[in-house]
Amino acid sequence: MSLLPSTCSEELREAASRLGVSRLGIASVHDVDEEQLKRYEEWIAEGCHGEMSYLDRYHDVRRNPGGLLPGAASVIVCAFNYFPALFQRGDVPQFAYYSYGKDYHEVVRDRLRKLACHIEELYGGETRVCVDTAPIPERYWAVEAGLGFRGVNSQLIIPGMGSYFFLGEILTTAGFAPDARFKGDCGSCGACVRSCPGSAIKDGKIDARRCLSYLTIEYRGESLPEGTSLGNHLYGCDVCQQVCPHNRACVPTDIEEFAPSEGFLSLDRDSIAGLTPEKFSALFRHSAVKRTKLKGLMRNLDYLD
Ligand code: SF4
Ligand code: SF4
Repeated sequence: MSLLPSTCSEELREAASRLGVSRLGIASVHDVDEEQLKRYEEWIAEGCHGEMSYLDRYHDVRRNPGGLLPGAASVIVCAFNYFPALFQRGDVPQFAYYSYGKDYHEVVRDRLRKLACHIEELYGGETRVCVDTAPIPERYWAVEAGLGFRGVNSQLIIPGMGSYFFLGEILTTAGFAPDARFKGDCGSCGACVRSCPGSAIKDGKIDARRCLSYLTIEYRGESLPEGTSLGNHLYGCDVCQQVCPHNRACVPTDIEEFAPSEGFLSLDRDSIAGLTPEKFSALFRHSAVKRTKLKGLMRNLDYLD
C-alpha cells in the first residue's frame, strides 16, 4: 500500500504532543519476529507468568496486531511520562510511582481516543486504541517504532528520558511512514539484577512469581507464598527502575492527573491499616490501586517489615 508523506507523521507527533505525549513512534504492521515469540513462549512454558493466565491466550494477536483491526497498516506507539514531582515519605509503606495519581488506563485512553479521532478526521480510515487491554506486546512495538529498547528489567527505556512512561497504542488503517527500529541494549550494566529485592530478574527475564510487583498487585491468594518478604513495598515495586542509570535523566510529568493527592501522600502505616471500605473507595476509586481491592492491600500490609 502507498504510504502517507512523512510530513503527516510529523503533524501527528505535534498533535500528540499537545495531548501530553512525550514521544510518539510509528511502526508498520507486520508479524512479530520469531525470536521474540520464542522467548515469550519459553517464558510462559517455564510458568514465569504466575497466575496471569490471560498472558497465555490470544497468541494470534500477539503474533500480529492486525487481528484487532482488519486492514491495520500502522501501529502508533505513544509514551506518557508519569514520573512524579512529589513523593511519599520514605518511611511509610510504598506505592509504585505509576499508581500515585489517576488510573493511567482512563487518562491514557481518553487522550489516545482524541488522537485517534484526529487521525480519522485528517487521514481517514479506521482506528483502534489499545491501553493494556488488548494483547499487544507493547514494548516490542515500542522498539519497532523507534522509541527505545527493552531493558533487562523488562521496561521500555527511552534513552535520554528514562523508563517511567505509560505506553498506549493506536492501530490505524492509515499507512504512516514508519520510524526506524531502535537498536541498543543495556550493555554490561546489571544494576537492576543486583538490586531486585525478589531476585526475580534472571537470564534477561522476569520471573513474576518472585517479583514484588506481581505479588502485591496481580497475585490473588489469601496469603502470599511462604517466605515472601515485601520490605516496605505495599503496592508494586520501583527498585529496578530506581537503580537504572537511564532514569537519572527523568523529569517530573506535567500531566496533572498523574499527580498524587494530599490524602494519598499523607498515608502512613496506621492510616492504611485503618482504611474502611468507604475511605479506600474515596481515595482509590480512580486509581490503579483499586485493582488489589482493600482486601489485597490489607494482605500486603501483613508482609511488610
Ligand atoms: S519490580 Fe521489584 S521485584 Fe519486580 S523485578 Fe523489578 S525490582 Fe524486582
Ligand atoms: S539497570 Fe542497567 S541492566 Fe537494568 S534495565 Fe537499567 S540499564 Fe539495563
